[in-house]
Amino acid sequence: MTDTDLLIIGGGITGQTAALMAAEAGARVTIVDAARNAGSHANAGSLHVQMQSRFLRLNPHLADNLESSLPLYLSAVTAWEALDTRLGGVELTREGGLMLAENAAQLDFLHQKAERETRKGLDVEILDRDALHALAPWLSPQIVGAELCRNEGKLNPLIANRKMRAALDVLGVRMVHDRITRIEDGTTPTAHGTRAYTAGAILIAAAWGAEALSAPLGLSLTTPPEPLHMNITEAGDYQIHHLVQHAERPITLKQFRSGQVVIGGGWDAQLAADVTRAPRIQSSSLLGNVALAAQIAPGIGGLRVLRTWAGYNTPVDGKATIGPVHPQSRVFLALPGDAGYTLGPIVGQSAAAMALGAEPPIDPAPYSPVRWRA
Ligand SMILES: Cc1cc2nc3c(=O)[nH]c(=O)nc-3n(C[C@H](O)[C@H](O)[C@H](O)COP(=O)(O)OP(=O)(O)OC[C@H]3O[C@@H](n4cnc5c(N)ncnc54)[C@H](O)[C@@H]3O)c2cc1C
Repeated sequence: MTDTDLLIIGGGITGQTAALMAAEAGARVTIVDAARNAGSHANAGSLHVQMQSRFLRLNPHLADNLESSLPLYLSAVTAWEALDTRLGGVELTREGGLMLAENAAQLDFLHQKAERETRKGLDVEILDRDALHALAPWLSPQIVGAELCRNEGKLNPLIANRKMRAALDVLGVRMVHDRITRIEDGTTPTAHGTRAYTAGAILIAAAWGAEALSAPLGLSLTTPPEPLHMNITEAGDYQIHHLVQHAERPITLKQFRSGQVVIGGGWDAQLAADVTRAPRIQSSSLLGNVALAAQIAPGIGGLRVLRTWAGYNTPVDGKATIGPVHPQSRVFLALPGDAGYTLGPIVGQSAAAMALGAEPPIDPAPYSPVRWRA
């Protein structure tokens, strides 16, 4: 008799949605997590679908990975809508996302991007200045156009994370605080931390921790943590309905129903010396990030920043990794790649289904860990 049917390493959104699905299917599920530093507890609640300019700028060599993943992003939003219903509402709205341009070169970049995204089934359109300002009158006049992606949206992760945890408690999912240092594959796979955990299957949903756990299993994936900065303001009038990004500058901007504005978009934080501890904020990121937000949406300039924080993003190679470490293995990977809060549920559910021998909700073949085999 094993300790549990499914042992999930990592208690972020990916591990938690995997646990929810498995427990609802009747499995005994245990989540082991080393520390409360998950990106899932630090993120901004953007439901991304269009290709993020920041990722393309920083990783031009991975653009094909991101582009080929666009159908997964569409499935991810559908998965979040189902989760919104399942959890009794997480303030999910889908009023679309705007990627802003301030000059002709940026608009040209958006035109080319939109063409590629349309071919992948996204509902996108380039808006000229008049159409954009009619839709978003709070924008600065310096913004000359935008790409509108109607598939995008936002949710409130503070609500989603709290409700998810409550749902897992009701289902009897065990939460264990431990750091797994080694996994033994086999018919009864075993994870080793301060004690040994035997399981019917093991799911690695450990984001930045996946590299060290999967290397001894023959995979050469790299998962460096990317410490990022976030801010939230006091409440203002609710006027920003879209998820807002920029074609060239590091910004994401959105407003919760409370009227609070959540500002982020890839400003640096500092890596902790020990990865089990939370990353630290940088004052230069705080100032730069909120100043840029106020340039784009001058009306929020008077709002006070209530809180600023940092968390670990794990973009991997811009493409999800879903499936067993090798075809016969009982150890599975569930790594969203970039935009992990958006992709976490569909990735977690798909990997959990495979671990339980059920049909995953998407075709996992394009996301197989086979590309990481040494
Ligand atoms: C500031 C910020 C804002 C973001 N905003 C957005 C956004 O708006 N939209 C979006 O889609 N994405 C966003 N992201 C990205 C997103 O938050 C993450 O990619 C996503 O949460 C990843 O979820 P996960 O469950 O896969 O991993 P995580 O949430 O990172 O969880 C991994 C967990 O694994 C645990 N772990 C690691 N190694 C071990 C080990 N050896 N043993 C035990 N436990 C281990 C860690 O303690 C951690 O809790 C943001 C990220 C940051 C940092």
